[in-house]
Amino acid sequence: MECIFCKIAKKEAESNIVYEDEKTIAFLDLNPRGLAHTLVIPKDHFENIFEIDEEVHSNIYKSVKKVCEKIKKAFNVNDFRIMQNNGKDAGQVVMHFHTHVIPILGYKGESLEEIAKKVREA
Ligand code: 5GP
Ligand code: ZN
Repeated sequence: MECIFCKIAKKEAESNIVYEDEKTIAFLDLNPRGLAHTLVIPKDHFENIFEIDEEVHSNIYKSVKKVCEKIKKAFNVNDFRIMQNNGKDAGQVVMHFHTHVIPILGYKGESLEEIAKKVREA
């Protein structure tokens, strides 16, 4: 059976693409753990941190930063968790290298009164 992320990269499987360039593609995670949870992958198949080509790895991080900047602009989010699992015991389920970009809708400095009002009136 062919790798699902290879299929997404080749546009043979559906995904919600948010960014792509020659070597990388970024799309929304199907089971998002937060708003705009995005996966950034190399278009070519590498399983993990040990296998990925160094240059492609640096392309991935350039794309990760671009995706963060785009989400920041789109949703006014400033905080991000960037995560990448290697190996089953580390929680890697899809064996095609991918970096999770998880925006964190953080505390924006509202006063307790403002927060309480927003929750009360929602
Ligand atoms: P891992 O646990 O391997 O680091 O993360 C794999 C991620 O890929 C999970 O968060 C899962 O929701 C996501 N995922 C698995 N299959 C698909 C798919 O077919 N399409 C998309 N967009 N995401 C997927
Ligand atoms: Zn693959």
